[in-house]
Amino acid sequence: MGNKQKTALISGITGQDGGYLAKFLLEKGYRVVGLYRRASTDTFGKLKEHGIFDKIELRDFDLVEFSNICRLFKKYQPDEFYNLAAQSFVGVSWEEPIYTTQADGIGVLFILEAIREFSPKTRFYQASTSEMFGKVQGVPQKEDTPFYPRSPYGVAKLMAHWMVVNYRESFGLHASSGILFNHESPMRGKEFVTRKITSHFAQTLIGATDKPLELGNLNAKRDWGFAGDYVEAMWLMLQQEVSDTYVVASGTTHMIREFVEEAGKVCGFDIEWQGKDEKETGVDKKTGKIVVKVNPEFYRPAEVELLLGSPAKAEKVLGWKRKVDYKSLCKMMMEKDIERAKQGIL
Ligand code: NAP
Ligand code: GDP
Repeated sequence: MGNKQKTALISGITGQDGGYLAKFLLEKGYRVVGLYRRASTDTFGKLKEHGIFDKIELRDFDLVEFSNICRLFKKYQPDEFYNLAAQSFVGVSWEEPIYTTQADGIGVLFILEAIREFSPKTRFYQASTSEMFGKVQGVPQKEDTPFYPRSPYGVAKLMAHWMVVNYRESFGLHASSGILFNHESPMRGKEFVTRKITSHFAQTLIGATDKPLELGNLNAKRDWGFAGDYVEAMWLMLQQEVSDTYVVASGTTHMIREFVEEAGKVCGFDIEWQGKDEKETGVDKKTGKIVVKVNPEFYRPAEVELLLGSPAKAEKVLGWKRKVDYKSLCKMMMEKDIERAKQGIL
C-alpha cells in the first residue's frame, strides 16, 4: 500500500465473511468501516470473538434503504466497498422470496447507482454465489458456465451479478463479482448444514442432548472451502487494474453424508447408515445409538444436487490459492464447537 491509508466499507460486517475480511484488511493497514443493521440484540459476537470489535468504525446500513446508501457513499467516497450483506440462507428464500429479491437483487442495484452518482472511483466487490449455477450446466463450474438458479436466493443473486457486469461495461465502474462456492468456518451460521452438524455433534458429545441430529438431503454435494481463505480472493479482485468475474472454489466436492461421517470421526463416532430415504438413520456403531436421522422437513422445494467449481482463473490471474482443505476445515469447525460446548457458549 502507498502512504495514504485506504478506507474500506464492508456491508454484512456481523456475518461470517464480514469478520474474516475485516480482520484481513485491518492487518493490511486499512481503515475499516463496518456496516450493520440495527437490532434489538447484540449482533457483534463474531467481531468480538475475532478480537477486532473496537478497531472497526460502525455505521447503520440496510440494503433496502436507498437514501441511507447514498449518504454513505457521499460521506466516505471509500477506496473499496465489499458488499457481503444479504439474506444469505437459501432455505429462507422460499419463505421470503420478495424480501430476498429486494435485499439481494435490488439492494445491489441501489449500491451501484450510489457509486455511479456519488463515488465513481470506489472499487466494488459483489458477493455472488455458486447457487447461480443451480441445476448445473457443466462440471466443473467455471466463469463461462451457463447459469440456472434453483431458488429465489439464486435468482436474486444472479440479477445482482448481471447488474455488476452491466455497470462495469456501461459506466466503467471498477466492479467485480466473486462467484464463491460454499465456504465455512467456526463462525458459520448454525442454520447452514456444516455448522448445524458440528454444533449438534458437540452437544451430543458432551451429553447436553441425546436427540439425533435431523437433516434433509444427505446426498447433495458441495464444494466446501474455508472462509478465511476466501476473503483474500475478494481483496485480490479489487487490487487488479481491471475488474472482472472470478470463481472461487476448492475444486473438490463431498456429499453431506461424508461431512457427517468426518465430523463424527472427530467426536469418536463411527457412523453407519441404515434404512433408506426418509427412514435413513446414522448409527454410532460403538454405542448403537442413532445420532442422525432424516427429516423431510429439511428437503428443499428444488435442490442443487452438485456443486464443483474450478478456481483455475482465480489461481492464474489473482495468484490466489486456498490453504485449508476439506478435512482440516471439518476438524477446525468440530474442535471449536466442542470447545464452545464445554464452555457452555454454543
Ligand atoms: P452471513 O453470515 O449470513 O452474513 C450476512 C450478513 O448480511 C449479516 O451481517 C447480516 O446482518 C447482513 N444482512 C442481512 N440482511 C441485511 C439487510 N437487509 N441490510 C443489511 N445487512 C443485512 O453470510 P456470509 O456467509 O458471511 O456470506 C457473505 C456474503 O456472501 C452473502 O452475501 C452471501 O449471500 C454470500 N455468499 C456466501 C457463501 C457462503 O458459503 N458463505 C457463498 C457464496 C456467497 P445480521 O447479522 O443483522 O443478520
Ligand atoms: P447452501 O448450499 O447455500 O444451500 O448451503 P446449506 O449449508 O444451507 O445447504 C447445503 C446442502 O445441504 C443443501 O443441498 C441442503 O439441501 C443440504 N442439507 C441437508 N440437510 C440440511 C439441513 O438440515 N440444513 C441445511 N441448511 N441444509 C441441509
